[in-house]
Amino acid sequence: MCKFAEIVSYIRDLYNKPKGVINLHEPYFMGNEKKYLSDCIDTTFVSSVGKYVNQFEDMCIEFTGSQYAIATMNGTAALHVSLVLSGVDQNCEVLTQPLTFIATANAISYTDAIPVFLDVDKDTLGLSPDALEQFLKDNCSIINGTCVNRITGKVIKACIPMHTFGFPCRIDRIIDLCDKHHIVLIEDSAESLGSYYKGKHTGTFGQFGVLSFNGNKTITCGGGGMILTNDKDMAKKAKHITTTAKLPHKWEYAHDMIAYNYRLTNLSAALGCAQMEQLPIILENKRKTARRYESFFEKDEDITFVKEAKDSTANYWLNTILLPGGLERDKLLKETNEQGVMTRPIWKPMNKLEMFKGCQTYDLTNSRWLEDRIVNIPSGVNV
Ligand SMILES: *Cc1c(COP(=O)(O)O)cnc(C)c1O
Repeated sequence: MCKFAEIVSYIRDLYNKPKGVINLHEPYFMGNEKKYLSDCIDTTFVSSVGKYVNQFEDMCIEFTGSQYAIATMNGTAALHVSLVLSGVDQNCEVLTQPLTFIATANAISYTDAIPVFLDVDKDTLGLSPDALEQFLKDNCSIINGTCVNRITGKVIKACIPMHTFGFPCRIDRIIDLCDKHHIVLIEDSAESLGSYYKGKHTGTFGQFGVLSFNGNKTITCGGGGMILTNDKDMAKKAKHITTTAKLPHKWEYAHDMIAYNYRLTNLSAALGCAQMEQLPIILENKRKTARRYESFFEKDEDITFVKEAKDSTANYWLNTILLPGGLERDKLLKETNEQGVMTRPIWKPMNKLEMFKGCQTYDLTNSRWLEDRIVNIPSGVNV
């Protein structure tokens, strides 16, 4: 195995940064960011009114091939609203993976539904269609056109697979299973802007797809999210429910339901527009970095660099390596972070967090295996 010092020096060379801290990811601003932000300030349109929100939505439609896009204040809000519009409530369960960022499980909880944690695939790091199929076969029945969990008696209303670190999961098989079982598919594509499965952009397969533009993501609005959908009626509802359900009128203020103020500000959208213009360059740059990491780790017998699986194109949001096991992994984390090269393990699995300990799980062999081995290494744009 490479000496950890060798890894540190490789990463320092790669980023041409012999001293100082190398972060896991950093925003990259090289285009019209300041210009569009100044425009907001000059015109006073900094809040919920202004041209950039629509423009940003249109750019996301254009880039992803989704038919509709609705901007929100962050990705968590986009997930929450997608669940609400799917009809998820306190009588429901939502299937997802334990290896995800807390936002996925939190959004499910906001609807008072209960998450069920199913295993991931070892190669894609995302929800396993085999695990999903087995769970449905062993535990669920279709009763009056709904999928019912025989153990809990609850309705399994939705499924949220997550494209981990930008690696697309086997979404086509997941769709088939969801369709057969009357389960709404919501793709958590927060990490996978610029990732494709069989040539189609992630987040455009399910009834809903969700993007995030948080500061650590591939591109950023400061904070922001997007709901993708091909359903015109749902798109209209999503816009309405995220903008306080105000009835359009020149001067009157009336609202027709209890809704949310999940609007993205014009300021954030302006930043988003400038970032969307840079996205192709950023993606190309990240692929180049990934290829260099790949050839570096190829000669190492013990460390595996995670590559995009068959049929998929990853955005390499966070480059990922697999270490032989817990102890080696912890040594690498300690050594690199002490040397100012930021690395980190995967999130603590959701089913191990205090809030979700009681939730139903199924065989989690792959999740446990990956949990002990995954390390993310610096992945920001390399200038
Ligand atoms: C970033 C992220 C989100 C959304 O996070 P926000 O900070 O609310 O935009 C959701 N799910 C996953 C897996 C994420 O990584």
